[in-house]
Amino acid sequence: MKYTANENRYELMKYRRCGRSGLKLPEISLGLWHNFGGVDCYETGRETVLAAFDAGVCHFDLANNYGPPPGSAEITFGRILKENLLPYRDEIIISTKAGYGMWQGPYGEWGSRKYLFASLEASLKRMSIDYTDIFYSHRPDPDTPIEETMGALADIVRQGKALYTGISNYNPQQTAKAISALRGFGVPCLIHQASYSMLNRWIEDGLLDVLEKEGTGCICFSPLAQGLLTGRYLDGAIPEGSRASKGVFLKSSAITPQLLKNLNALNTIAKQGGRTLSSLAISWILRDSRNTSVLIGASSSAQLKENLCALSQPPLSDEELGKIEEILKTN
Ligand code: NDP
Repeated sequence: MKYTANENRYELMKYRRCGRSGLKLPEISLGLWHNFGGVDCYETGRETVLAAFDAGVCHFDLANNYGPPPGSAEITFGRILKENLLPYRDEIIISTKAGYGMWQGPYGEWGSRKYLFASLEASLKRMSIDYTDIFYSHRPDPDTPIEETMGALADIVRQGKALYTGISNYNPQQTAKAISALRGFGVPCLIHQASYSMLNRWIEDGLLDVLEKEGTGCICFSPLAQGLLTGRYLDGAIPEGSRASKGVFLKSSAITPQLLKNLNALNTIAKQGGRTLSSLAISWILRDSRNTSVLIGASSSAQLKENLCALSQPPLSDEELGKIEEILKTN
C-alpha cells in the first residue's frame, strides 16, 4: 500500500519540550504494548499507526517484550516502517526498552550491562533500524549497582545506538539516584515513563517534583487505566475482545460497583463539557505542564481518533477540575 502522510499533520498536534532537553514530544503518543503482536491483525495495527502519524503523533513506544509473542510488536512496527514510514524516519521518535524477562538464563532480564546491550541489539534487528531515539531501563534492578545500569545506558547513547535515554517505573528515590549517576557519565536522563491516570496518581507524591527539579520529562503510560477511563465498561458489561475480557493485565474483578459509579460520574462531567470520558482523562493529565506526553494504547484507529479529540477541546476549567477531584476522593 502506497502511503503519503497527511500534509497538515503538524497543525493537528501540539508538542511539548521534554524536560530541559532539546527534544519535543507530541502531547499524545502511541504505545504498542497490546494490539500489535504476532497474534494481532497486521492491517488493523498498520491503520492505527498511520492514522496516528497523520494526526501528528510522531512518537511510537515499544519494548523488547511487547507482543505476544515477545518481540513481535517490534517486528510489526519494523514492517510498518519499511512498508510505509521509512521516508519519514527523521520525523519519528521510536523508543524501546529492556528490563523485563526476554530470554532464559541470568542475562535475559533486569539491568545488567550484558542484558541491556544484547537486548537493544536484538530490538534494532527486529525493527530493521540502526538506532532507536530513546532507550529505557524498563524497571529498576534491586541487585545491579545503579552505576552499571546507567553506565550501560550512557555508553549506548555515546555509541549512537540510542539518541537519548530514560528510565521507567523507578520510584522518586531511585529516580534521583539514576539521574545523578547518568549525569556523572555525562549523559542527561531525558525522560521517565511512569503509569499515571485519574485512577492512579502515585507520581504526584514526589516523582514529578524530582523530575521537574532535574529537568527530566515525564511520559504517562496507561492514561486511560487500560480502557476503564473510556466508554468501554460504563454499563458494567465486559465487551468481547476487550482487555478486561482477556483477564490478564486488566481483571474484570477490578470493575467494582463503586468504580463504575465513579466512572459514570466522570462521564457525566465529560458530557457536560462536550467531551468523551477518554478525552477528559487525557486532558486531565495534560493539565500539568510537567507531563510531557500522554502515552495511549488503542486497539483500532477509531479508538485512537476518539482519544485524539482531546487535542481540539479547551483545557479543563477550574470548575471541571474541582468536580473531578470530588469524585476521585471516593473510591
Ligand atoms: P491505555 O490506558 O490508553 O489503554 C489502552 C486500551 O484502552 C486500548 O488498548 C483499548 O483496549 C482501550 N481503549 C483505548 N481507547 C479507547 C476508546 N476510545 N474507547 C474504548 N476503549 C479504548 O494504555 P495502555 O495500558 O495500553 O498503555 C499505553 C502504552 O504505555 C503501552 O502501549 C506502552 O507503550 C506503555 N506502557 C508502558 C509500561 C511500562 O512499564 N513502561 C507498562 C504499560 C504500558 P481494548 O480495546 O483492548 O479493550
